[in-house]
Amino acid sequence: MSADPVTIIGGGPAGSAAAIGLARAGSEVHLVERQRAIGDAICGGFLSWRTLQQLEALGIDSDALGGQRVTRLALFAGDRVAHSRLPHAAMGVSRHRLDTLMLDRAAACGARIQLGVKVRGIGDDGQVDCGEAGMLRANALILASGKHELPGARRTMPEAIADDPVLGLRVRADPSAGFAALVGDGIELHLFDRGYAGIVRQEDGGGNICMAVRKSLLTQAGGSPAALLAMLGAANPQLGERLAHVADLSATDAIAAVPYGFIAQSTEPGRLRVGDQAAVIPSLAGEGIGIALASARDAVAALLRGGAGAASDYQGDFARRAALPMRVAGAAWRAAESPGLARLGIGAARWFPALPRLIARTTRIV
Ligand SMILES: Cc1cc2nc3c(=O)[nH]c(=O)nc-3n(C[C@H](O)[C@H](O)[C@H](O)COP(=O)(O)OP(=O)(O)OC[C@H]3O[C@@H](n4cnc5c(N)ncnc54)[C@H](O)[C@@H]3O)c2cc1C
Repeated sequence: MSADPVTIIGGGPAGSAAAIGLARAGSEVHLVERQRAIGDAICGGFLSWRTLQQLEALGIDSDALGGQRVTRLALFAGDRVAHSRLPHAAMGVSRHRLDTLMLDRAAACGARIQLGVKVRGIGDDGQVDCGEAGMLRANALILASGKHELPGARRTMPEAIADDPVLGLRVRADPSAGFAALVGDGIELHLFDRGYAGIVRQEDGGGNICMAVRKSLLTQAGGSPAALLAMLGAANPQLGERLAHVADLSATDAIAAVPYGFIAQSTEPGRLRVGDQAAVIPSLAGEGIGIALASARDAVAALLRGGAGAASDYQGDFARRAALPMRVAGAAWRAAESPGLARLGIGAARWFPALPRLIARTTRIV
């Protein structure tokens, strides 16, 4: 049995950011990640200007990320389109690239990183069961397993999404001059009944087409993601034009039951929830990674200030900090997935381009 001062479960942006922060401050930190090799998580891959600043503070600059610069927001609903400039330049980058750079940085700062170790359970006594990899005992535990529940530390989900859960789907468009001409330096949000698709170009020039849709929409398409994409492309011609650059619509990655709106208001002694374990903002805000980095920063500061005993204060403070961006993003998401409200919203955005900019600003976490 090893006794690590801080154990981090999960090597996504939240876990890696916490590992970088703690290791840089000289703490002994051990991160376990269940994947053997760093994958490419289902994510829009949009890094907001605030997220880029936070990455810079962790020692990862935009040049190293090498993604596509994003300066415009384009909103589509039916035959309506609205364009506006983002408050500041953002970036499109794959999660494989981001997660690799962040874990490398954590290791370079002195964190112990173990891939291929899945946490099977957490005991009341703080012991962490890592299956064949053995037991760990931690003074403080950072829960950074994203959407995945940890046995012994499950979250209670909001009831609002339980009746028609949200699914995440992702396909890739091949890099081509035609696709670049369509999307350019924009982040596009295509809004439709019970869902949206976010499209951005990434480091290789190809497109990440990531959707959040209600399960009932997939059921309507016979349960097949490829049939759903074909149905959406036919009903929304501008989206269809972009989907035409996807070589194989059946090569769809999917995740189930994304708990939009969840905020951890409290926590158990010695356990600090970060990233999606702390708050799950509707993804059309493009701020989930921002929340991951901001919560990790605050958790690190709390641990350095007050040790494991600071867990409860940290969780309550972060829930309050996240409340406004979550509320605004929740309202925007509900409007976006209702065709009438989406069309109205796009009409308003055409007359007042400052409106989407204001929403973009108020959905950032500070
Ligand atoms: C459809 C969709 C689109 C999105 N688009 C964007 C976007 O464009 N921009 C943005 O900022 N955010 C976006 N998000 C949100 C963003 O992806 C998440 O908020 C972010 O990934 C949270 O980071 P995390 O580190 O908390 O969790 P994750 O990134 O999920 O990382 C968790 C890690 O923990 C590991 N893990 C899980 N269980 C265990 C275990 N038992 N033992 C060990 N390891 C474990 C996992 O393998 C994983 O590597 C999107 C989300 C969705 C669903």
